[in-house]
Amino acid sequence: MKPKTLVRVRFAPSPTGYPHLGNIRTALFSWLFARHYGGRFILRIEDTDVTRKVKGAVDVILDSLRWLGLDWDEGPYFQSQRLHHYHEIANRLLKEGFAYLCYCSRERLEMMRQEQMKQKQPPKYDGRCRYLTQRVKEQLEASGIVPVVRFKMPLEGETTLHDLIRGDVAFKNSALDDFVLLKSDGYPTYHLANIVDDHLMAISHVLRADEWLSSTPRHILLYQALNWPPPQFAHLPMILGPDRAKLSKRHGATNIIDYREQGYLPQTMINFLALLGWSLDDRTELLSREELIKYFSLERVSKTAAIFNNRKLEWMNGVYLRQLSPKEFAQRAIPFLDRGLPASVKRPLSENYVCQIMPLLQERSKILAEVSQLGDFFFLEEIEYDASLLLSGGLDARSATQAIEIALQKLEAAKAWDVSSLEGMLRPLAAELELSAGKFFGLVRVATTGRTAAPPLFQTMIVLGKERCLKRLAIALQRVATL
Ligand code: GLU
Repeated sequence: MKPKTLVRVRFAPSPTGYPHLGNIRTALFSWLFARHYGGRFILRIEDTDVTRKVKGAVDVILDSLRWLGLDWDEGPYFQSQRLHHYHEIANRLLKEGFAYLCYCSRERLEMMRQEQMKQKQPPKYDGRCRYLTQRVKEQLEASGIVPVVRFKMPLEGETTLHDLIRGDVAFKNSALDDFVLLKSDGYPTYHLANIVDDHLMAISHVLRADEWLSSTPRHILLYQALNWPPPQFAHLPMILGPDRAKLSKRHGATNIIDYREQGYLPQTMINFLALLGWSLDDRTELLSREELIKYFSLERVSKTAAIFNNRKLEWMNGVYLRQLSPKEFAQRAIPFLDRGLPASVKRPLSENYVCQIMPLLQERSKILAEVSQLGDFFFLEEIEYDASLLLSGGLDARSATQAIEIALQKLEAAKAWDVSSLEGMLRPLAAELELSAGKFFGLVRVATTGRTAAPPLFQTMIVLGKERCLKRLAIALQRVATL
């Protein structure tokens, strides 16, 4: 259903750590929602929890969004630079009787919490300062204690909300406590800052993780107290690991930048994350950014948790890697080769040489971080491998020796070094040696690459060049002799 108002959504991360998949999924859904309806996407950094701020986190958040192409139309706003707004609203709530000052010490609150836990009750502020007499208040004030501001929660009744994904949800007010709005350090809590900003920034829709649903009745009550219309809420389903536990590092799902470091492409991440909780239908897996913008809707966001599947992510990245032009693939692979190849390989790598190799690897790589390992034998002067691999096709040392000797003679005499000449030489040789092509080629493959599985043999040999192939075959001959 098309929203009647101008769509204004925000992504409001707290810089308490590096953004993980769940955070970015929230950003992506908000961005898609904004782009689908031609609305605005606003970036707001919720940095009011001074004790949990992580240095550098803001930069990583911005960097991640830029990497994924999730461009914002306004911001980033920083809540730490907007304290006057929260103070003004806290004062208004105090003046109008919706909030009160609380002088309880940390020790008292802690004791109360311990007691409640002992009694198996949920921890909740007991409301003592709500009922202070004017005299006691004055005394406390005079004693120099800096109070916090608490919201006066209605003691009975229910707060309901219509969530665009979850439907109608009701909360008993008596279960909610008089939560803090303004802390004694002068910073607002998440609840206060969040609703003040959503109001001042005219946010029409709040798309956020499911874990915030239980905070929403507090927000609704604040909007009511302030006589502000609340935005519409859409709480996104949880993301679980394959074992159905909440997604965490344990599942290999670390922060989003790690995926970039491993060589996942932004288009993969966008497509993959879009399908964590949203789908076009029950089949379509591959969707471009443009298609996602075109088709995204909250109606197709699921109510049930999404399951993170690393295999699917790898598969999808393989698909997107194969869609790159060979040149683009090579360009993207170079930094990974630079990082991954041993120091003995001469730098800078020749772009021309890399461009010859990469088409052979493009077919089989799932992440760019693999390319150095998949193709190191193209770059190394000498390859290390276990000599017994030369017999892995089931040959004995004698026939392997004979096969390599004859292959060497033939190849040494070769005039041309291209796929059809190599094939024309080596295929009849296998027959001559009374070996299956598979066995014979397998042997040549191990001798020239050190691997039992590598890109197509003749193309590999062409890139390696005649001289290097002959040298490696000669070394293989010596190695077989040791078996
Ligand atoms: N700062 C909160 C977070 O980091 C925002 C929650 C919300 O979107 O309201 O998730």
